[in-house]
Amino acid sequence: MSNASRWFPPSGRRIIADTEAPKLPASFTATAPGRPRVVIIGGGFAGIACAKALARAPVGVTLIDRNNYHLFQPLLYQVATAALSPADIAEPIRKMLRRQRNAEVLMAEVTGIDTAARAVLTADGARIGYDTLVIATGSVYNYFGHDDWEGHAPGLKTIDNARAIRTRVLTGFECAERESDPARRQALMTSVVIGGGPTGVEMAGAIAELARHALARDFRHIDPRAARVVLIEAGPRILSAFPAPLSAYALRRLEALGVEVRTGEAVEDVTADGVRLPGEFLAANAMVWGAGIRASPAAQWLDVTPDRAGRIPVSDRLEVAGQRQVFAIGDTVAAPGENGAPLPGLAQVAKQQGEHLGRELARQAACGDAVRPFAFRNRGNTAIIGRHAAVFDFGRRQMKGYPAWLLWAAVHIYLLVAFEQRVLVSIQWLWRYVTFQRGARLITGPEGGSEQSAGRSERQAVRS
Ligand SMILES: Cc1cc2nc3c(=O)[nH]c(=O)nc-3n(C[C@H](O)[C@H](O)[C@H](O)COP(=O)(O)OP(=O)(O)OC[C@H]3O[C@@H](n4cnc5c(N)ncnc54)[C@H](O)[C@@H]3O)c2cc1C
Repeated sequence: MSNASRWFPPSGRRIIADTEAPKLPASFTATAPGRPRVVIIGGGFAGIACAKALARAPVGVTLIDRNNYHLFQPLLYQVATAALSPADIAEPIRKMLRRQRNAEVLMAEVTGIDTAARAVLTADGARIGYDTLVIATGSVYNYFGHDDWEGHAPGLKTIDNARAIRTRVLTGFECAERESDPARRQALMTSVVIGGGPTGVEMAGAIAELARHALARDFRHIDPRAARVVLIEAGPRILSAFPAPLSAYALRRLEALGVEVRTGEAVEDVTADGVRLPGEFLAANAMVWGAGIRASPAAQWLDVTPDRAGRIPVSDRLEVAGQRQVFAIGDTVAAPGENGAPLPGLAQVAKQQGEHLGRELARQAACGDAVRPFAFRNRGNTAIIGRHAAVFDFGRRQMKGYPAWLLWAAVHIYLLVAFEQRVLVSIQWLWRYVTFQRGARLITGPEGGSEQSAGRSERQAVRS
């Protein structure tokens, strides 16, 4: 663990990022011997929900994750734009399951599955046997064959991604303050967000607000309000998964924030200096990728044919075909929805699948019953467009504007409080958010300083 980067958040919670997991013994023996063992790979929304739903089941639960924390990804863009500190949206998995006597947590990188021997294989050579396996390893960003773009335009999936983007955006303004060449200065103050889905829309709006409000008075030689934020979408409209009137509303709101929205334009190249579009090079300092995701490589571990997005096809019982007692849930699967089309990669889908599967496996362990089909209940799809504006799509009904934003804030306060049991942090966050204060406006991490100093800075940011 010596090289692990870490910080020590205010409550003393210890979060290890970018891990070098502690080495497991090759013949790892799980606790609760004699009970059937359910091994869950992944401590995201799906895996945690499944583990918790098994709390009273007569089984032993082993949850494996490469990180020692569960990450609340929907608020990552707020870390990337300095409204929240990483520790506000991450919770140690061990702490989340510490009261659950039948559960143990292992920090390890899973690299394969030996389905014949019914064992999970880890990067450090350990084999972890299972009776029932639940795969919940989520997704990664899809660069559609241009993986070299990732270094210039990170996606927003991990704490490191968010910190790298924050560092990049803030460093751009610092460098612009000292830059005398006008074209270079403008490039340093230009951010490009690629992909007009919810993440792209939220990022573009938040960067625009950071520049126009939070940073507006902090510089002497530049005017951060002159910053350029460009959102590029290859399709005909942003928020294409939402009804057209909500897309149109989001476009109007983004433009009111000063975001330049360009639809119908596909990115041809991404370099360290900017983005190439047909017939034009957009010089930029910070670039963010939000143009598509693909599943984790779990389909390869099982040797099953994935769908086009790399997802494992599962039945409505969330079972992997041809495998005994192997289930998969969350972003890494293509599970059939009501109309037969795969369910979307959303936290609410992952969580509901995890809860359902956990309950069903508990029933199976207690009574021997088969796992029943999963049915998704849509609680509403949402996207935030800066402060005080959001869209909500509940299927038959829609909501937009300030009421939608209030609902979004209430839901996220509720989730953060439930998630971390930290009412104060949630209220502080909401206050900073509505007053445009960006408490975590610190240049730290991958490009800007040691992790120990990052730890101190994050802590101070939360206190301030
Ligand atoms: C920026 C952003 C904003 C979002 N906003 C929303 C929103 O507003 N509403 C919404 O409903 N959804 C939103 N989502 C989607 C939502 O976060 C995902 O659908 C959800 O996280 C999927 O849950 P999961 O458990 O399948 O995967 P994850 O939450 O991604 O968890 C996967 C876990 O598996 C672990 N893992 C992966 N591979 C390995 C391995 N090889 N070995 C060990 N461990 C491994 C990871 O460390 C991780 O902990 C957003 C996503 C992003 C990135």
